[in-house]
Amino acid sequence: MSTKLLKAAYSPEDFRLRGHQLIDKLADHLNASLNGRSPKVINWSSPDDERNYWINFLENGEETTLFDEIIQKSIHIHHPKYLGHQISPAVPITALTSILGAQLNNGMGIYEMGAAGTAMERIVTDLICSQIGYTAKANGFLTSGGTLANLTALLSARKKVVKQNVWQEGYSGKLAIMVSEEAHYCIDRAARIMGLGDDGIVKIPVDKNFNIRVDLLENCYKKAAEKGLEIFAIVGSAPATATGIYDNLKALAKFASEKNIWLHVDGAHGGAAIFSKKYSKTVRGIQHADSVVIDGHKMMMMPGITTALLFKDGNNSHSTFSQKADYLLQESAEQDWYNLAKRTFECTKYMMSLHWYTLIKSYGFALFDEFVTTLYDSGEKFAGLIQKDPDFELAAKPMSNIVCFRFIGNIDSASEQNLRNKKIRQQILEEGEFYIVETKLRELHYLRVTIMNPFTTPEIMEKLLAKIKGLAKI
Ligand SMILES: *Cc1c(COP(=O)(O)O)cnc(C)c1O
Repeated sequence: MSTKLLKAAYSPEDFRLRGHQLIDKLADHLNASLNGRSPKVINWSSPDDERNYWINFLENGEETTLFDEIIQKSIHIHHPKYLGHQISPAVPITALTSILGAQLNNGMGIYEMGAAGTAMERIVTDLICSQIGYTAKANGFLTSGGTLANLTALLSARKKVVKQNVWQEGYSGKLAIMVSEEAHYCIDRAARIMGLGDDGIVKIPVDKNFNIRVDLLENCYKKAAEKGLEIFAIVGSAPATATGIYDNLKALAKFASEKNIWLHVDGAHGGAAIFSKKYSKTVRGIQHADSVVIDGHKMMMMPGITTALLFKDGNNSHSTFSQKADYLLQESAEQDWYNLAKRTFECTKYMMSLHWYTLIKSYGFALFDEFVTTLYDSGEKFAGLIQKDPDFELAAKPMSNIVCFRFIGNIDSASEQNLRNKKIRQQILEEGEFYIVETKLRELHYLRVTIMNPFTTPEIMEKLLAKIKGLAKI
């Protein structure tokens, strides 16, 4: 067999050359994006057109232009007119740690397959635990996304709280969790994966400002118990994705402790508020949670995907997937922190701790404070502009950088308003100068922004609103 292709594919000199070229391209792209010089945030085309483009490229495209084409045809997260979904404009140094991790490609599942990365993972998760306000008993790990982290936390909760060993024996009774009706869909999905079914997800209503109705907790619990459900956990959103509104974690903690159930805080988006001196009040009570999820790729400026899952009592994270008796695990818990696959869903896992460690080493926690605080301030500024303008309506006063609003103008009927806002959002998408998203809350169609770029100025926000008004009148 010839190895000509293999030699070419592994050529260090080819890597050096292409690598330098790519970094130059990305630096230019970053410059153009950050300064808003590239005219569009997104070059939108329909899914079928896009597919055909790349089918054609595979046949006829010039290989030397491939990376340029990918950049051109991808959404530009670093553009200050990107105000869409909650993904970070990754700090450039984490693009470098991505290359480092990808090329070293340590497996991370067991200690020898990632010594540096494993030690770093322990160090950064310990640091986050103390920032949460946990004691020395706490620890955690990094895992592939908030969705998986939430599922893992609920598995730990079930293992700890439910008397029967469901992991070994299965369960014939009816288990349930409690969660706000505004929680991220992945909580619902996690519960269903765990076999809880429709009845196993007890939804707590929210009030008119989308705050969780803590006054209804007791009643929801009682009703579930009457149906024969055994509730083992309650999930708090910090904040809920669609609305950006934080649950009252202190009240949830009190309830969880009274009922002897697990409190899990889904802080995928805004758990990072623990780093903000100004906004840590939004997560007051978080230190009472049995587990906390914080995404690195949302409010912590890292590339996707990397999520910290932290446990108030680290021992609980060691028993989630254990097949053996608990007494054995208790014994080995201390010695075993470095074999991460015992505690994570993943076997092989990419070297995600490099991002966290490098950011902390280079800039300290102060960087996270600047990021979260600046963006949450921006959310307030944007909401201020909406409130000043009678053509618009705010869904609720924001508690984060997520703001839901809609154009009203002089349209009277709710269905007309819905249609108009839907149309506005589609036009903005196809035009590509800005990127915003949409959501439905109580049957009303809202435009939704998440200000993810610390360089999105009030002038840009005003331009967006002017654009929306222009489109609304067409
Ligand atoms: C984004 C989000 C998730 C899902 O996290 P992924 O990292 O995208 O899997 C879960 N919960 C909340 C509140 C979120 O905002």
